[in-house]
This record gives sequence, structure tokens and C-alpha cells, in this order.
Amino acid sequence: MGVEKTCKVCKEQFTTTSFKSATTINMCDKCYGSKKRTQAEMNIVASFNNKIVAVETRLSKLEKAIEMIPILIGAEVSNALTNITEIDMLSTINKSIQLEYKKRDKKMKSEHNKRIKEIDNFKEKLQKQIVTLNNKIINIIKEMD
Ligand SMILES: [Zn+2]
Repeated sequence: MGVEKTCKVCKEQFTTTSFKSATTINMCDKCYGSKKRTQAEMNIVASFNNKIVAVETRLSKLEKAIEMIPILIGAEVSNALTNITEIDMLSTINKSIQLEYKKRDKKMKSEHNKRIKEIDNFKEKLQKQIVTLNNKIINIIKEMD
């Protein structure tokens, strides 16, 4: 047996489904349904908000990661450039060392050739002197006879 009550939301008269439920129910069916729907909608909105917050957090992390990419690429490129410069420098040093060796080698060879020529000249001079000396000796022996 229902009890007649005033709905606390719309102030309309309504009858509860039973005497027992009269103590707990203080809204008409329409308002109760509307409240339930609102609660469900609020739950959906709250859950949606949580999802949005989660997405925004992930997005912010992603943005920071994306911001870091040019810095990382820049560091990588600068690193590569440094390596290239070092390789270039080593190559240049190596080339100059090889050039220096070639120069020294050439100088040494020319120095060596010069010495050989000098020795040859000396030999020739010595040979001439020996011939001259030999002739003098022959003449002296002839005079002694
Ligand atoms: Zn109502």
C-alpha cells in the first residue's frame, strides 16, 4: 500500500509503490529517473574527463619527446661532424708527413748522388796524380841509369 508524498525536486504529489519504500523514497518516478540518468551522465563525464587528462598527460610527454628530437639530432650531427673533422685532420697530417718523408727521401738521394760524384771526381784526380807520379818515377829511374 503506497503513501502519498510531495516530490522534493518538482514539488508534485506522488504515491510510493509501497508503505515500506515511503521512508526512503522522496522523489517522484520521473525525478528519480532523471536523477539516475544525471548520475550516469556525470559518471560518463567523469570517466571521459579522466581519459582526457590521461591523453593530455601522454600528449605533453610526447611533445617533450618531440622537442628533444632536434636537440638529439643536433647533438648526433655535431658528433658526426666532429668525427669527420678529426678524420680529415688525421688525413691531412698523414698527407703532410708523407710529403715530408718524400722531400727528405729526395734530399737524401740528391745528397747521396752528390757524394758519389765527389768521390768519383776525387778518384779521377787521384788517378791523374798517380799517372803523373808514375811518369816522374820513370823519368827519375831513367836519369839514374
Ligand atoms: Zn518529481
